Amino acid sequence: MVMARIVVLLGAPGAGKGTQAVRLSRARGLAHVSTGDLLRENQKQGTELGLRAKGFMDSGKLVPDELVLDMLAQRVTAPDCRAGYVLDGFPRTEVQAQALEQRLKGDDEVQVINLEVSDESIVQRAAGRLSCRKCGSVFHAQNAPPKKAGTCDNCGGPLSQRDDDAAPVVRERLRVYREKTAPLVRFYSARGLLHSIDGERSPEAVFDHLASLVPERN
Ligand code: AMP
Repeated sequence: MVMARIVVLLGAPGAGKGTQAVRLSRARGLAHVSTGDLLRENQKQGTELGLRAKGFMDSGKLVPDELVLDMLAQRVTAPDCRAGYVLDGFPRTEVQAQALEQRLKGDDEVQVINLEVSDESIVQRAAGRLSCRKCGSVFHAQNAPPKKAGTCDNCGGPLSQRDDDAAPVVRERLRVYREKTAPLVRFYSARGLLHSIDGERSPEAVFDHLASLVPERN
């Protein structure tokens, strides 16, 4: 059996994890696993998990670990994850990072890449971020506008601001990030797995850097 390749993207909300995860997973034939997308999908479908997660998400808080861990365990055992996957928005707490560590097999190749972006850019990016309500693709009113205003380039669905991208919720998400998720930089750097890269550059420049750290396998 080939060893699986797991890439963890770390970074504050709006650092570009989603955009880069989509591109990297396509370029390297890996599954894209976004816990935020999975939770939003559960909300859309009206599942019990979706209902339980909603209040936390709307207020910028983290969904409790046990809910996220069950959901993730199910997702990464799907056949498309066999060769590996790009994790976007997971882990977000030390408990989640430990759970991931236990789930990995000895020969899995793990890389953790931290996208570094200043708080000012985070707030500015969230303010202009437009998400497709149908397929989840992300655009930006100024930095990456869709070809046709209000319409998704990929599926033609309607674009709108995510409720949790409203300024007060973004500030809370940043606070939660600093408290719960930023310590993972140390957690992974202590394990020799961390690479930090400058996420302030254009999406293309960030992607080129990221792709060079996760080279194609022969
Ligand atoms: P995201 O799309 O990654 O920005 O996630 C949106 C929201 O979903 C977050 O603000 C959290 O409320 C929730 N969420 C996503 N991933 C996780 C996770 N790994 N742990 C806890 N909550 C999460």
